[in-house]
Amino acid sequence: MSTKHDRTGSHHCRRMAAVFSDYLDRDLREAICRKVDEHLKQCPDCRLYLDTLSRTITLYRGLGGIRVPKNVESRLFATIRLAAEKNKRKKRATR
Ligand SMILES: [Zn+2]
Repeated sequence: MSTKHDRTGSHHCRRMAAVFSDYLDRDLREAICRKVDEHLKQCPDCRLYLDTLSRTITLYRGLGGIRVPKNVESRLFATIRLAAEKNKRKKRATR
């Protein structure tokens, strides 16, 4: 069941990751938000990813309402994305 998503998922998910930052900022147009929502409903990987991301951003903002600089945010993204991919690869390798 989840194998089907695994095959098509990774590519798709990487594209999703690119919009998560905007999604969290609610800068995205409604249509895209709905698309993300729908994807999240059927993709635990992305849900976890978004959860981690949102928690990190909340943490940042909690520190006196500092707005996360764009370059920090994208570096954060790269790190989380890398971790997620490593995780995936590990999962795939053990299979
Ligand atoms: Zn996904």
